[in-house]
Amino acid sequence: MRIDLHTHSSVSDGTESVSELLATARDAGLDVVGLTDHDTTGGWPAVEVRRPVGLTVVPGMEMSCRWFPDDQPPISVHLLAYLFDPLHPAFAAERARLRDERLERGERIVAALAADGYPVRWDDIVERSEGGVVGRPHIARALVAAGVVDSVDHAFATLLSHRSPYYAAKSDTDVREGIALVRAAGGVPVFAHGLATKRGRVVGDAAIHAMVDAGLLGLEVDHPDHSADERAHLRGLAAELGLIATGSSDYHGTNKTTPIGACTTEPEQYEALLAAGTGSTPFRD
Ligand code: AMP
Ligand code: ZN
Ligand code: FE
Ligand code: FE
Repeated sequence: MRIDLHTHSSVSDGTESVSELLATARDAGLDVVGLTDHDTTGGWPAVEVRRPVGLTVVPGMEMSCRWFPDDQPPISVHLLAYLFDPLHPAFAAERARLRDERLERGERIVAALAADGYPVRWDDIVERSEGGVVGRPHIARALVAAGVVDSVDHAFATLLSHRSPYYAAKSDTDVREGIALVRAAGGVPVFAHGLATKRGRVVGDAAIHAMVDAGLLGLEVDHPDHSADERAHLRGLAAELGLIATGSSDYHGTNKTTPIGACTTEPEQYEALLAAGTGSTPFRD
């Protein structure tokens, strides 16, 4: 069984529609794929209609959160959520708030770039997001299309980096609150790419322990942005704390160079995830 539990469609900031993404997953020989668009379940209904025969799809989401250290500014953390009830009112309301934050923050980044003469327009970014959830990759593609940078990667390394003067933060959910919401909705919260130092500042073990106390059930261990040492450390923590250990590609279509299935989850870990999720069920034959 080949299982990839973290992918993005064009409902958020991937480049393939749900239908195309599922076909890509099947063509890559995956048996199970998790659909985890940022802050939305908007892609779930299309899975029902578009799922290729033989492919199991785990409904999920990647929630934008923050950890608040005592002595430093907040650290951005991502929480994968699986098999939750999409209609749970408090969780649905928080997702809506996060999407609004993304719009407001995207508009601020674009306004700052435009004020300095970069040829980007907010209405173009909104159009690129096709009614879905806006993210920096949409702005990156607009910068590539305008010839300002030569790739999405280049945009992230320069104008859209969190160190750039054009960067604007979002007011993301306190991760302990996020974990509680996912659990309240019957879902399985898994800490996404938790030690990926190449993405920026990361939390320490004390924060991970606090997240477990709040109800965290899993750690994403194998992720393209994790070094071998980072994976080993997370694998050790998962064993020590009795957590589910997942592996996944974080596929974004052509917005990233990583192929689908680049990292995968062991079947026993997937079974543990299925057993823990009570808010919704996988789409399967
Ligand atoms: P945002 O959620 O708007 O802050 O944008 C971050 C998103 O961009 C995350 O989904 C990342 O996976 C993605 N991302 C980060 N770095 C890159 C990169 N170099 N190229 C493409 N996408 C990236
Ligand atoms: Zn993304
Ligand atoms: Fe992420
Ligand atoms: Fe992701």
